[in-house]
Amino acid sequence: MYINIHFLHTLRMVKPMSLWEKDLNKTSLPRIENDKDVETLIIGGGITGLSTLYFLQHQQNTILVEANLCGSGVTLKTTGKLTYLQNTIYTDLTNNIDYETAVDYLKSQKYAICLAKKIIEKEHIDCNLEQVDSFVFTNKKKEIKKLKSEKEFLESQNIKVNWEEKKDFNSISVSDTFVFHPIKYTNALKELLKDKIYEQTKILKIKKHQGKYICYGKNFKIIAKKVIVACHYPFFFYPFCLPLKSHIEKSYMIAKKVTKNPKISGITVSNPALSFRFYEENKKCYQICLASSHKTSKDQNDSKNFRIVKEKYDIKEEDIVSVWSNVDIITGDKLPFIGEIKKNFYIATGFNTWGMTNGILAGEMLSKFVLKEKVPFKNLFTLKRSNFYQIKSFFGNMIGSAISFIGSKKHQKEWYHENPTFLKIKGKSVGIYTDEHNKKHLVYTTCPHMGCSLIFNEQEKTWDCPCHSSRFSIDGKCIKGPSTKDISYKD
Ligand SMILES: Cc1cc2nc3c(=O)[nH]c(=O)nc-3n(C[C@H](O)[C@H](O)[C@H](O)COP(=O)(O)OP(=O)(O)OC[C@H]3O[C@@H](n4cnc5c(N)ncnc54)[C@H](O)[C@@H]3O)c2cc1C
Repeated sequence: MYINIHFLHTLRMVKPMSLWEKDLNKTSLPRIENDKDVETLIIGGGITGLSTLYFLQHQQNTILVEANLCGSGVTLKTTGKLTYLQNTIYTDLTNNIDYETAVDYLKSQKYAICLAKKIIEKEHIDCNLEQVDSFVFTNKKKEIKKLKSEKEFLESQNIKVNWEEKKDFNSISVSDTFVFHPIKYTNALKELLKDKIYEQTKILKIKKHQGKYICYGKNFKIIAKKVIVACHYPFFFYPFCLPLKSHIEKSYMIAKKVTKNPKISGITVSNPALSFRFYEENKKCYQICLASSHKTSKDQNDSKNFRIVKEKYDIKEEDIVSVWSNVDIITGDKLPFIGEIKKNFYIATGFNTWGMTNGILAGEMLSKFVLKEKVPFKNLFTLKRSNFYQIKSFFGNMIGSAISFIGSKKHQKEWYHENPTFLKIKGKSVGIYTDEHNKKHLVYTTCPHMGCSLIFNEQEKTWDCPCHSSRFSIDGKCIKGPSTKDISYKD
């Protein structure tokens, strides 16, 4: 009985993992066992942390620590486009901030693509880098004006833009953009820099002491003069207060088999976006189809969202290769935060789903901060900026957090029919997931980060936090921050 109901709600015959996951280098580098004293500590081995280490590789006494495996965070679940055509960002920035900011952002994204290409060429990284035409399209009449405005902006910056008008959609496209395999890229950096990387090494808290930072792990501490936080969502609230400056957006993806690679990638004008790209390997072609993006505070029913992707792209069950979801941090003004939080303490976050370009760029910027060199685009991404859209989103984010907090507590039991089930043990909320072998997996369902109730993601079999995107396995191991603690039930 349970199995039948369950199948009505999830997609069949699919592996809940990203298309890139099979290629992740799963051989773990050593973990930190003893205390260390270093010049610079980078926390987080995603595209941002690894790129930073790449630019700092010749600096003595610089190390990177990664809680799990390098590349296993948000970067593992990206679509892997390297493009400056990002919906209609330049029109939005012009309208919301000013024309100069839009021009600077365009320059930063083109610069980042050049950086990525340079690293890939110099290090001979085989990561399926492929030049493709990027499209932004719409089938809504009211969005045509915005699309035209994006075209005009790009042309004012001497970019050749194609305009297409078809019966059922309009589009703009540019040709100097790329797609790649993000994990082959991070694997290569991990191999290149392995002497300076420690994996399975999580930082739990940081304290300032006598002008240095003491970074505590479970059984060790690292004393560092300079710290770079590249862990996607910082695990501390103060002094940066990211939950008040951003919200989390979740998207759902299905990779399906296709017969050929048309060498294009695309995205719609506005949210919730449809976004796609193709990937070719060993003469097999796949299309990654993304849809149903939403604020995590607004919708927490994962199974429904996966079904929406399937319907939007008319995907046949037998063509599905893998399914997965991913989250990114969206800032009020759509610009990342890259810079100094306090003396010798730096962060890069809030990539607004464009962290391939921005993560690599952040790597170069953060290295220049540390080396006290001139930092490109410093003012554009400064943490100290304040504009109307940031202030406006501040209140929205507060309300959103409250909605996630209350909503998660209110809905969870109704959605899941018979699995998982919930109960209270010694006053604590516990969720029980029963697997296909009838084994019961018990976890506490309150997120250790800020107390939101966790949602069970039926498709990927994880416990997800709707407020700040922490994720836990069915046995309670924390597999994505900002939480630094597990939720395993202890009798
Ligand atoms: C659906 C979706 C599609 C996207 N597609 C694109 C795209 O096509 N192009 C593009 O440019 N961008 C895209 N992005 C955005 C991009 O994937 C992300 O912005 C980027 O991967 C973030 O990289 P990161 O290095 O900052 O974070 P991560 O990859 O998450 O790396 C952070 C690392 O820090 C580690 N960590 C966390 N806490 C600790 C701790 N306490 N101690 C030690 N280590 C810790 C984690 O384990 C993790 O490995 C997409 C995002 C989403 C959600």
